[in-house]
Amino acid sequence: AKEQGGAAFTGYDQQMYQRLSSRIQLESDIKEAIRLQQFYLVLQPQVELSTGRLVGFEALLRWLHPQRGIVTPDEFIGVLENSPQMVELGYWVFRRSFELVLQLINQGYRHIRISINLSAGQFLDPLLPQVLQGLLDEFGLPANHFELELTERTLVKNIDTTLQMMRQLKGMGFCFAIDDFGTGYSSLSYLKQMPVDIIKIDKSFVFGMLENDADYQIIVSTIAMVQKLELTVVAEGVENRAQLQLLKKHKCDIGQGYYFARPLNDEQLQQFLTEHVPDGFL
Ligand code: C2E
Ligand code: CA
Ligand code: CA
Ligand code: CA
Repeated sequence: AKEQGGAAFTGYDQQMYQRLSSRIQLESDIKEAIRLQQFYLVLQPQVELSTGRLVGFEALLRWLHPQRGIVTPDEFIGVLENSPQMVELGYWVFRRSFELVLQLINQGYRHIRISINLSAGQFLDPLLPQVLQGLLDEFGLPANHFELELTERTLVKNIDTTLQMMRQLKGMGFCFAIDDFGTGYSSLSYLKQMPVDIIKIDKSFVFGMLENDADYQIIVSTIAMVQKLELTVVAEGVENRAQLQLLKKHKCDIGQGYYFARPLNDEQLQQFLTEHVPDGFL
């Protein structure tokens, strides 16, 4: 009888139905997972290339699923992107990031910054400024310890609302980074009209830069343009010394990638700090 019921759907409908039901399943799972504290953040170091100084960390989400083990965000964030669950999960990410900044400051890393990823749905949330202001007040931290990472896709989606939100949060003291730069549709001149502080060159260009001349040229010209606009440029996905040397040579400000460290859980973070950066330098 089950098979017959299924036959009422065309192949396309069935696919749609499955996608929809797995989405609903995932959304209720997320709610439950927040409650059960199955989410955690890993922090990936960001290093000033000219000095080797640790400047901050990017916060990356992980889900310790009771059956599936560690689930990375690619497996659930795409599905959740514009759902209320993503907004709620985002609130959890903010709170945890505030806790981590406070902890790092208390450990002596007084100027540390944490960058937080936001998807489009989170950034269109009208409560966002209020929620962030609530956390600033509660933790007694200035907003300049936090950097908000938006993708070009988010920026071009709802230009007016996005720009208004950016101005408001910028006014509160938050900084903005454009993530995955070079993979979307925006241009630097367009970004110049927005209160953006940091450009993050997508890791796909860094991966290719040693072998592929196009990737190399894109990196070199992006760095040069970002420097001309007096913004900060970050290269992500730095995996080896040769990439690092070349990025340094072209005056890229900050690097992030497995060459320096993988994203670290709480325990790994403490070990990393005592072993490698007791004095703030890597
Ligand atoms: P992203 O923001 O571009 O983050 C960088 C991704 O590259 C991370 O994947 C990181 O683990 C990985 N990575 C860093 N260095 C290297 C390297 O040297 N080599 C290679 N191969 N990979 C490197 P991850 O943690 O799986 O995150 C995937 C994406 O999920 C992120 O891409 C971001 O868009 C999204 N994401 C992560 N955490 C959050 C969050 O809290 N909220 C939202 N909205 N999105 C998040
Ligand atoms: Ca990011
Ligand atoms: Ca990125
Ligand atoms: Ca050191």
